[in-house]
Amino acid sequence: MPLLSDRPPSVGAAHALTALRGDYPVFAPGEVWLVGAGPGDPGLLTLDALAALLQADVVVHDALVDARVLALARTGARLKFAGKRGGKPSIAQEDICTQLVEHARRRLRVLRLKGGDPFVFGRGGEEMLALAAAGIPFRVVPGVTAGLGGLASAGIPATMRGVNQAIILATGHDPDEDSNIDWCALARTRQPIVLYMGLRNLDKIARALMRGGLPASTPAAVIASATLTDQQVIASTLDSLASEAHAAHIAAPAMVVIGEIVRTRQQLIDASAHAAAGVPRSACEG
Ligand code: SAH
Repeated sequence: MPLLSDRPPSVGAAHALTALRGDYPVFAPGEVWLVGAGPGDPGLLTLDALAALLQADVVVHDALVDARVLALARTGARLKFAGKRGGKPSIAQEDICTQLVEHARRRLRVLRLKGGDPFVFGRGGEEMLALAAAGIPFRVVPGVTAGLGGLASAGIPATMRGVNQAIILATGHDPDEDSNIDWCALARTRQPIVLYMGLRNLDKIARALMRGGLPASTPAAVIASATLTDQQVIASTLDSLASEAHAAHIAAPAMVVIGEIVRTRQQLIDASAHAAAGVPRSACEG
């Protein structure tokens, strides 16, 4: 297998890839790759995502893909925006699928680049099925999803021995409209809940969870622009997180995390302060 297709003129990145992985997948004309770009920080791209960027002819990307990631596309690659921006109507999913199929039929190397992981609230599943139905060869490259990478970057482990045994990833759709989520049942699990797109309906969802028996004092946090330099974290409790996030003018993209696991962040801050002050940390001794 050749190390690269003969096309990418690109940068030191190609050398880094070759050194790190030896050989990496060749993007054949007429293929579509469904690729996750991670939560934002370009450092969280996978090597296969970078390989895709260095070879693609057309990059169909959504709004959450960082400009520095797009800048890695090879010179001459066409960038096509296909996402939601500033409340304007988004391109219909069907049209995106059609676009991917049409580009591939023109023998282009088509990179469908999405924030996070393509299969976590990213509609990658629909696109994969559309490609399969059209007989287009495709590859899926997973990415670091914001719900896990974003938590880590805020100092909140997704799981911690003795604290939680499961973690729930949910969409924060309007609880009045989305009858498929039984918030009371989720509350009863007592396991942390991570909400994607949860900012707008946070107040409603918090109330639904409290009706389901989750204490108002349950630790909860919003993490905005996770992994990026302007990352913001608001840590509070279930009953007041929505108003605090609103008061702090927190804007999308933002993750919400609700559960005891959020306390770990405060423990981390306290431990770091102790360490900085030279105070022994008895909890860590022995
Ligand atoms: N496929 C993506 C999720 C797309 S849904 C993934 O796996 O991460 C879009 C939602 O993801 C946003 O509304 C927000 O809740 C979350 N999100 C994506 N990137 C984020 C980031 N950098 N910081 C906080 N939340 C993020």
